[in-house]
Amino acid sequence: MLWNFKFNVPTSIEFGNGKVKLVGEFAKKLGGQKVLIVTDKGLANTGILDKVIDPLKEKNIDFLVYDEVKPNPRDVDCQKAYEQVKEEGIDVLIGLGGGSSMDTAKAIGTLLTHGGTLSERYGTDKLERDITPLICIPTTAGTGSEVTSYSVITDTNIKDKMLLFDLRLSPKVALVDPELTLSLPKSITAATGMDALTHAIEAYVCNVSEPISDSLALHAIELIAEHLVNAVENGKDLEARQNMIVASLIAGLSFANTNLGSVHAMAEPLGGLYDTPHGVANAIFLPFVFKFNISSNPKKFANVAKKLGVSSEGKTDDQIALEGAKLLEELANKINIPKFSDLDYVDTKDFDFLAGAAEENICTTVNPRKITKEDYIELFTAAYEYKGSNIYA
Ligand code: NAD
Repeated sequence: MLWNFKFNVPTSIEFGNGKVKLVGEFAKKLGGQKVLIVTDKGLANTGILDKVIDPLKEKNIDFLVYDEVKPNPRDVDCQKAYEQVKEEGIDVLIGLGGGSSMDTAKAIGTLLTHGGTLSERYGTDKLERDITPLICIPTTAGTGSEVTSYSVITDTNIKDKMLLFDLRLSPKVALVDPELTLSLPKSITAATGMDALTHAIEAYVCNVSEPISDSLALHAIELIAEHLVNAVENGKDLEARQNMIVASLIAGLSFANTNLGSVHAMAEPLGGLYDTPHGVANAIFLPFVFKFNISSNPKKFANVAKKLGVSSEGKTDDQIALEGAKLLEELANKINIPKFSDLDYVDTKDFDFLAGAAEENICTTVNPRKITKEDYIELFTAAYEYKGSNIYA
């Protein structure tokens, strides 16, 4: 194969414990006189919000807090937030939290600079100018949104998640501070960690992968395989937390420059329809899609499996890759990711709608194996019928 690619890192990254203290300095550098902090109520209650407010006060920067962000952020809420702040003269945005807060900040920035509605901006390169300068401070180790030029917003009309994708959405600065993830509960650590793992795997196997993102993705897989269980079980282990948030960051750089695949194509409509946490949805579908895709490139899938810890001695690539699928299933069980059928709101009658939405999802176009709506129905059904026995038996 002859390579032909571009690789952008439009965000300046500051990584390390205590980096959140730099927020005042960076807000000032970006010309901030009145800053909007975009976050959610859960975070406001952890004390993390104060870690952002104090450095702003030290630099005498005026600020407002919008703390109404909800998981799987909805178009109508972003629009409402914009209406609340549009006359306030906001010149810098801070996205503080998980992907939901960072994506909402990107959406508000889009509306502040373009007016109109978000639906006019869905798709690729639909922005006419840079959004309001944005500083992202992740507090989950999962989405990588602090370095991506994506914002994922639920369109309430069609009950599906839509993508805004434009380099003009990119945060100017990412302050990645592992200490901010010490307060994450087990279930969110588990789900967001599986999200980061899914990013790394899909970026590596998708049909627009390239060597820079490949190397980042493989390293992220290795880090997550080594540290996720420990981060879930021993949440105060700062080294495990550090390794997980760096893995999420580099997986973010990887998929920001490539794309994803059918796990995301299935997870996004699930989040849009039922509000399922994004990481949980990814974790549920990952082993099934991994197994479905192996035949497209057994060597690459075997490489993933080896990074996950599968031994390769005396085995073919197909065998190694299949053991990788089993290991993904075991990992999800070990960290108590619910099974698809445990989600009591899931109605099998919706599989037709979900499979149709998955087929239409942009991630389907880059999945390494051609996949149809019928395949998606089979995958949703297989995941639903799975009760814990070996999926590849
Ligand atoms: P989230 O932002 O929805 O947060 C989940 C929960 O975690 C919230 O209740 C929040 O209060 C809590 N929380 C966050 N940090 C905490 C902390 N340090 N301590 C205690 N509680 C904390 O979850 P997420 O998984 O980070 O984000 C998911 C969203 O991101 C989805 O909408 C998904 O589609 C999107 N996403 C975006 C990108 C991108 O590149 N833009 C990539 C992947 C996913």
